[in-house]
Amino acid sequence: MSSKYDVIVIGSGPSGYVAAIRCAQLGLKTACIEKWKDDKGKGVNGGTCLNVGCIPSKALLDSSHRYEDAHKGFKNHGITTEGLGIDVPSMLKRKDKIVKQMSGGITGLFQANKVTSLYGSGKLLANKKVEFVDNDGKTEVLEAENVILASGSVPVAIPVAPIDNDVIVDSTGALEFQEVPKRLGVIGAGVIGLELGSVWGRLGSDVVCLEAMDTFLSIMDQQIAKESKKIFVKQGLDIRLSCRVTGTEVVDNNGSKEVVVTYTDKDGNEATSTFDKLIVCVGRRPFTDSLLSDDSGVKMDERGSIYVNDLCSTSAPGVWAVGDVVRGPMLAHKGSEEGVMVAERIAGQKTVMNYDIVPNVIYTHPEVASVGKSEEQLKADGEDFEIGTFPFVAIGRAVASDSSEGMVKIIANAKTDRILGCHIVGPNAADLVQQIAIAMEFGATAEDVGMTVFGHPTYSEAVKEAALAVHGHAIHMPNRKKRK
Ligand code: FAD
Ligand code: NAD
Repeated sequence: MSSKYDVIVIGSGPSGYVAAIRCAQLGLKTACIEKWKDDKGKGVNGGTCLNVGCIPSKALLDSSHRYEDAHKGFKNHGITTEGLGIDVPSMLKRKDKIVKQMSGGITGLFQANKVTSLYGSGKLLANKKVEFVDNDGKTEVLEAENVILASGSVPVAIPVAPIDNDVIVDSTGALEFQEVPKRLGVIGAGVIGLELGSVWGRLGSDVVCLEAMDTFLSIMDQQIAKESKKIFVKQGLDIRLSCRVTGTEVVDNNGSKEVVVTYTDKDGNEATSTFDKLIVCVGRRPFTDSLLSDDSGVKMDERGSIYVNDLCSTSAPGVWAVGDVVRGPMLAHKGSEEGVMVAERIAGQKTVMNYDIVPNVIYTHPEVASVGKSEEQLKADGEDFEIGTFPFVAIGRAVASDSSEGMVKIIANAKTDRILGCHIVGPNAADLVQQIAIAMEFGATAEDVGMTVFGHPTYSEAVKEAALAVHGHAIHMPNRKKRK
């Protein structure tokens, strides 16, 4: 095997593996280096997303939703259940099977596209050389015309709550609880806190989320964030804002461990809460440990990410970086699109990525999803805009399926009517917001969406109605604006 490649990708998460496949599709001789190992020490592809992120969390969200629906929702439909129970080990086994299937799928795609899959760790040296140490410790120096760094991210650690992987865990540990904790503490009411808090809450945990900020989901559209919070609180999540954790102590209580968390509450008073398990999910940071030699020429930015321009070029010629390890939201699809852009750039194409249209979803039930700018961002930009909102309670399909909580909000430029943002909390919000992402990509106006024929009865009729509501033309609710 020659050790000279057109492209070497370091990291096989959604950013790296997509980049590698696209490079190979474009006829480039490509290798992808991955250091992740399974519990048997075997190399696996897929990174955070497939192994401990998007996929396993969604597997547990789905299982726990089914349980909760059977437990609380079925009776509304006249369906009775007896002897309903939870078998956590089976639930985890199903999740693990899905993870294995999906990461095996990447390996299959690598074979089909003739990407050389190398298991071990990669380090970028000067002049696009890569030191590769395989999982048996054998070292080789590989060369490439281009190197793509896709080394991802890891959870942020906080000294006041050190992870012991037993009582105090990060998101990875929270996917592995062998039984439902009775009292579950969550530090950080962000995406992971809400998703994994929901999983265990649905299965029976009393969940308390301690959030440092005084606003809930502060980067989201606040109308949607407030509506979401109301729904989550009704579901039983105890979300405490303005809480600063100052200490944690794992103690023994009659042979079982628990953790006492000390924090300053919203009134500035010291408070304590005791939990059986504590999840620390206060963000993720770019991962670059042992990735770069001192003379690699790759510069970092002030936030510890690899510095890149809009095209994902680093400061070293021929070296690119994509995904969580660079600026921007830490989302699988954002990294994948960067991977495609870089592969096509390397192949001489002029591809650019539209960073203004990257959907963002929280997979609670109902889901919270957004694309484009929030009302707050547009106000700060001084933009002149119109808003249309529409509640799911006026959508037949939503009512028929007991999924009528939430709303769609569409924001359009006041003069051009071009859609600037869409924010949804409600059933299938992830898929609904994608409709507006496509519309925005084509420069659609609210009127364009309002004039589109939507199937009936569908949840997506709320999208059409919200678009109509921008001009006061919604049909299935009284409009606040005067009809023209
Ligand atoms: P990663 O997926 O982190 O992959 C990086 C890979 O590089 C890893 O496999 C690592 O082992 C490897 N690597 C690092 N250094 C080296 C080296 N020197 N040599 C060889 N290999 C190396 N995002 C979404 O969009 N939707 C979701 O629903 C979602 N859910 C999530 C749920 C959880 C619990 C978590 C933790 C994250 C979730 N995310 C979600 C975020 C998503 O997982 C990340 O944005 C995504 O995985 C980033 O992809 P990446 O390829 O940049 O990095
Ligand atoms: P996050 O940024 O979504 O939320 C972290 C929360 O913790 C914030 O609300 C923050 O204010 C709070 N916080 C920070 N320090 C704190 C402290 N000391 N005490 C209390 N609260 C504190 O981060 P996350 O939930 O850890 O998720 C990490 C990243 O993973 C996300 O930003 C996202 O990019 C990605 N992710 C995405 C999805 C998805 O797309 N559905 C799901 C999970 C994770």
